[in-house]
Amino acid sequence: MSLEKKGSKGNKPASKRDIFKKPVDKHSVENLVRPFILKDEDYKRLMDIMLGEFNKGLGKETNPTAKVKMYPTYVRDVPDGSENGNFLALDLGGTNFRVLLINLNGQEVTMESKIYLIPQHIMTGTGEQLFDHIAECIHKFMSNHDLLKEKIPLGFTFSFPCKQIGLNHAILTQWTKGFKCEGVEGEDVVRLLHEAIKRRGDIDVECLAVINDTVGALMSCAHSDRDCAIGLILGTGTNACYIEKLENVGLWDGDYNEPKQVMINTEWGALGDDGCLDFVKTEYDRQVDKHSINPGRQIYEKMISGMYMGEIVRLALEKLRKHGLLFGGKGSEELSTRGRFYTKYVSEIESDVDDHFKNTKQVFEELALEKYSDEDCRIAQYVCSLVSTRAAFLASVGVAALLNKMDRQDVTVAVDGSLYRFHPHFHDLMVEKIQQLVKPGMKFKLMLSHDGSGKGAAIVTAVANRLRESEKESIGENGLEN
Ligand code: ADP
Ligand code: MG
Repeated sequence: MSLEKKGSKGNKPASKRDIFKKPVDKHSVENLVRPFILKDEDYKRLMDIMLGEFNKGLGKETNPTAKVKMYPTYVRDVPDGSENGNFLALDLGGTNFRVLLINLNGQEVTMESKIYLIPQHIMTGTGEQLFDHIAECIHKFMSNHDLLKEKIPLGFTFSFPCKQIGLNHAILTQWTKGFKCEGVEGEDVVRLLHEAIKRRGDIDVECLAVINDTVGALMSCAHSDRDCAIGLILGTGTNACYIEKLENVGLWDGDYNEPKQVMINTEWGALGDDGCLDFVKTEYDRQVDKHSINPGRQIYEKMISGMYMGEIVRLALEKLRKHGLLFGGKGSEELSTRGRFYTKYVSEIESDVDDHFKNTKQVFEELALEKYSDEDCRIAQYVCSLVSTRAAFLASVGVAALLNKMDRQDVTVAVDGSLYRFHPHFHDLMVEKIQQLVKPGMKFKLMLSHDGSGKGAAIVTAVANRLRESEKESIGENGLEN
């Protein structure tokens, strides 16, 4: 086996460098990883599929059988910057659960937060256990911040597919991203949270708004950039929301007052659950799906997001090894263990820019691989870059479909999630692909959204709180008149 990298390295992903010089050997490695390489036409076709699915999800008649659900949220507009006050927020939806305390004061935002672990047995236990645990974390947080005597409005960023029936009512449709708590699907998660808070009886917290992390990212970014109209998540899972005109939302059953628009939570991770992505799926994707907690579901998400990317790479590396094309055919228990190749390794390996392969070797050490050559490093880097490039391009397909659908001149896309944040090439790859796919002349920006799940929830909660206070006042005034 002999692979050589051409002189120029720098910060181009390995998938873009001509690293195969010797045609004799390239075939075996290339053959095994070729399915990760999609053609421009494939991406174009995928964008058309995505657009079709968006429209199907939005239509009243077609929605029941649509896989991409396009849930209208109860968030109608971006913030005007006048939001202020203290708010609690919960961020639940994947790898970390956080409780936050946020102070909004015009453009000034301060926050404190703490991550609490959700143990595996709770992630797959009962709903009551989950919400009792959450209530306990809120109690701990409030106690540590000396807030137990206060009544602070709370916003809940709950990032799983939900049908919203009000700003603080969200019915969970199905668990994703490794969660599977009994008795929650089909229920209002805010009611379950309030019941758990009541069971404790030692905190005075009311949840005024429940939002998705995509909406959080959008709102948080729109706080300083009025062009922001898409919120995108590339973390444990992937999803996006955008601002849609009410006239395009067949599903809409609210009022048609100004602003005649609403944020739509696409839940695009479910694209492909009807088989429409089968033409690009690889054997590695099928394996990942088969061994997941939700087989047959979230197919697009499984080809893109952080919960699955490392595992796709691991399966490909294992296959190469078994064919004697990596590590002299000798692996390790770690490399053979499902889930043991973390997605952060992909970022680390792809961050190596010279032939010392410092990070790559470090990863190999962590995987207890005993014998590896520089060529093994090159191949691993190549595999990582193929998988991450495909992920970035697939995510771009969704963003480009939204941009083309919205047809606005300038759009800022707020992006949150560790995959986007830490992968060395994800941003650049996405800009390149989106540019290829959008209508000519359309301008867009991808902007990292900082702490959208906290700040976004606080902003939406602030608006809900203001509305509620003014309603209370007007009831009070009416009361006086009578
Ligand atoms: P969440 O989506 O739960 O809000 P994050 O945005 O932090 O959380 O995303 C967590 C996911 O990001 C995990 O699947 C993890 O594998 C992945 N991840 C963490 N660090 C990195 C990294 N350095 N590079 C790429 N992916 C990462
Ligand atoms: Mg998050």
